[in-house]
Amino acid sequence: MSTELLPCPCCNGKAETSDGGFGPIDAMPMFNLFFVGCTDCGLLVAAKTLEQAIAACNRRFVCLDKNGKKVFAGDKVKYTPQGQARQHMESYRCNVTEFRAPCYGYGLCGENDFTCCSFYSSEIELIESDGE
Ligand SMILES: [Zn+2]
Repeated sequence: MSTELLPCPCCNGKAETSDGGFGPIDAMPMFNLFFVGCTDCGLLVAAKTLEQAIAACNRRFVCLDKNGKKVFAGDKVKYTPQGQARQHMESYRCNVTEFRAPCYGYGLCGENDFTCCSFYSSEIELIESDGE
């Protein structure tokens, strides 16, 4: 997973790590945590490693699955095609990479020969999330 820090997920402001100038946090070493914060809206994300803090801050909510659960970019979902697509493939797992509101997205598949797929949110079910 990339450790490049994206802009704040709440306000799109400038996000910084605690060792990159996010000042006040450096004065609280007793937490023994790494922080990523937004210099505009004050969002603060903490984790045990810097990589985890960055990954958490970089997470983006992309859609609701068929059960109404939040799916983030990078989450694994079970894709169960409907309609004509069902005749060509069994259900399989994929990694959500992109979703275009309100209901259509793309994923990368890891467990078989499909390299990508497209789906409607009503066709996917969250099976593994990085967090929450
Ligand atoms: Zn912000």
